[in-house]
Amino acid sequence: MNDTNKSGLIVVGGGITGLSSALTWALNHDVKEDPVLLIEKEPKTGGYVTSYEREGFLFDTCQMIPNISDILDYLGIEIELKKFKGYYMRIFLVNPETDEVKVLELPSGVETFKKQLMELYPNNAPQIEKFLDHSREMYLELFNLKLEPTGKEILKTLKMCPKIVANSSKTFKKYFEKFGITEPDVEEIFNVFAEFSALPAEQVTAIVPVSAMNSLLDGAFRPKDGFIEFSKKIEEKFQALGGELRLKTEVVKILVENGEVKGVQLKDGEKIFSDYVITTVDPMVAMKSMVGLDIIREVDKKYAKKVESVKMSTSSMNLSIGLDDEIDLDALGMDCGYNVITTGGDTFDRLFEAYEKGEIGFTDKRFHMGVVCPSLTTGSKPNITVRITPMALADWLELRENDREKYKERKQKWADFFIDKVEKYLIPDLRKHIKVLDVSTPATYARYSGYISGSVYDMAPYPDNFGRSRLKMRTPIKGLFQPKFVHGVFGCLLAGMQANDMILDRKIMNGNARYKA
Ligand SMILES: Cc1cc2nc3c(=O)[nH]c(=O)nc-3n(C[C@H](O)[C@H](O)[C@H](O)COP(=O)(O)OP(=O)(O)OC[C@H]3O[C@@H](n4cnc5c(N)ncnc54)[C@H](O)[C@@H]3O)c2cc1C
Repeated sequence: MNDTNKSGLIVVGGGITGLSSALTWALNHDVKEDPVLLIEKEPKTGGYVTSYEREGFLFDTCQMIPNISDILDYLGIEIELKKFKGYYMRIFLVNPETDEVKVLELPSGVETFKKQLMELYPNNAPQIEKFLDHSREMYLELFNLKLEPTGKEILKTLKMCPKIVANSSKTFKKYFEKFGITEPDVEEIFNVFAEFSALPAEQVTAIVPVSAMNSLLDGAFRPKDGFIEFSKKIEEKFQALGGELRLKTEVVKILVENGEVKGVQLKDGEKIFSDYVITTVDPMVAMKSMVGLDIIREVDKKYAKKVESVKMSTSSMNLSIGLDDEIDLDALGMDCGYNVITTGGDTFDRLFEAYEKGEIGFTDKRFHMGVVCPSLTTGSKPNITVRITPMALADWLELRENDREKYKERKQKWADFFIDKVEKYLIPDLRKHIKVLDVSTPATYARYSGYISGSVYDMAPYPDNFGRSRLKMRTPIKGLFQPKFVHGVFGCLLAGMQANDMILDRKIMNGNARYKA
């Protein structure tokens, strides 16, 4: 392929999925012969994975990743990762009627975690052991899964991945119920893993919390110099290999002719041609607006129908809080992975019900939030991050665009609400120490990423929206891929490699869902 105006591959969107897609291509081609072009609408790459400076404080969007050293090795990049010390997680379970707080502390390491739970809840010890062992085996089965299995491989999957197959249509709640655990605190602990995916336990597919729990208990990390290191390092390597990057450039169309992808069209009308396109933007925008459902329908009615039924994940609110040097976060036990403050029980289900109606369900008697302290892990100036899901986009964007004052007022009202809770239950006198407060709303996420629903975790992992029922990465348009069904930094890095594996007939991962070095 030597046409000078034509790329081998165009990648739409320079977030982590796009960066990984583009770099993997560059690692596996002579880019002089088969050029690769990465197109990003913003002035910098990284998408949702970024760091930003406010008045001398460096804040991150993301907070935690599992051990991804094998993938970083494959991509040939080095990032200094710091492991979270102390507890893996602490849950502050608030009784909304009495204001009493019960603290559940969970250590890192699968075996230590299991031992502690069994000691704390002896009545349920055998059930806890069975649940954790079964879940571990199910998690390890992921390494035997093929992404696009052949007939023979499907038969093999039935043998090699029996637990995944048996539970693929189950929600986490249904899966958990099989083990007969009766202690409410234990259920509370495991439900938090479900809520990491921003879905209630009774709606999320079982394998997602099971993988989050196992991978993060094995070790939780964050980059020492901020999450922006990911885009910085991948971008550098990509360009060093001869890959081309165009920033501040918006794709408006994916060009298709006779069921085959031909390239993309930019906002200014320019057309760029290529053999392959990998789109890493909101899959609804990509399929409905950039390609067009009618065009997809002509080639594959089933895929077009699937696009119409895809459910996206929720949006979020985030408070990044810079603190003075007087505060002793260490003494408050903040040197741990994740702190959850919750009214427990059916809190998350009710919050989710409100979210589905476009409402905010948080009240003084019902709340749920995550609090992380990056600075004790990285050694930066004292700061904490408060993460709130589920939040619907609802009218946040409209308000931001049409009534700035009202938008600011609402943002402050909810920031105050969540700061009050953190001050009351986790960090006494927090307000006294605040130097900088930066609040992101669903409008921030929608504007920045281009997700029309402000979704922070892409397609939501309901059983009928995930695994074999997901919107497939290989689209029916020949040469067009959309590796957008796994959320999180790890999943996105992997997805970029998977799309290239499909293009290169299994050269990179041998068709496996997980990369094996
Ligand atoms: C607040 C928050 C906290 C999170 N915390 C964690 C965490 O702790 N751990 C974890 O593993 N994951 C976390 N995640 C999830 C993780 O950040 C995402 O799963 C991941 O970043 C998605 O990457 P992506 O490249 O698929 O998409 P995106 O990051 O959305 O990237 C898409 C890119 O495409 C660009 N784009 C959009 N439209 C166009 C267009 N028309 N033309 C050109 N470019 C376009 C966008 O500007 C963007 O850069 C968090 C996400 C958020 C929002």
